[in-house]
Amino acid sequence: MWQKTKVNRVARENLHEHKGAVVWFTGLSGSGKSTIAAELEWHLYRQGIHTYLLDGDNVRLGLNEDLGFSMRDREENIRRVGHLAKLFVDAGMVVIVAMISPLRKDREWVRSLFAQGEFIETFIDCPLDICIERDPKGLYKKALAGSIPDFTGISSPYEHPIHADLTIRTNQVRISEAVSTIETHLVAQIIPERSSQTLQKTHVLHQR
Ligand code: ADP
Repeated sequence: MWQKTKVNRVARENLHEHKGAVVWFTGLSGSGKSTIAAELEWHLYRQGIHTYLLDGDNVRLGLNEDLGFSMRDREENIRRVGHLAKLFVDAGMVVIVAMISPLRKDREWVRSLFAQGEFIETFIDCPLDICIERDPKGLYKKALAGSIPDFTGISSPYEHPIHADLTIRTNQVRISEAVSTIETHLVAQIIPERSSQTLQKTHVLHQR
């Protein structure tokens, strides 16, 4: 049984002055997940919103260091990060997850952990040929040369979301526009009584 605590989610959310939620980025390698996630987190932080960014690459350095890229391991990767995100939401925080998460069934499973509106599936959409051109980490070059097995988009499948809450086409919009679209949607969820514009004028913690 879930052990009840004296300080609960509602208390923590009241302290933060916003609700908890998950912004889950899915998309091909090189589509822009980490870039937009980092920029979004910075914007939210400056508004006094309590965040944590779970980047797939970082999680694989610790909690998920024992996992590879087979479909089974990817499923387990998502299962663990999904539960971790749920704990962060219970802590009243906004969790930004940046993970390829290639299969619909795995993303639908994560969604089922959360209440309606709390899980914001954000498709970071970019055509494969542009991701290959960008190749920010040189991984496509290696995958196309056959030295990385099970590479999403090359030798492992990616299933586009059908009912994503947001779709950001990074070959068409700038990073700043992407951040603003996601932020507007998120703030309506976590601080329904306040518009993001009002919020931007209060709670400024740091200047860049
Ligand atoms: P992912 O995390 O999805 O693997 P990254 O964020 O690491 O992708 O890399 C995306 C690359 O594409 C970065 O070098 C980024 O600067 C570049 N890029 C160009 N245009 C955009 C855009 N509109 N949105 C996001 N990234 C972009």
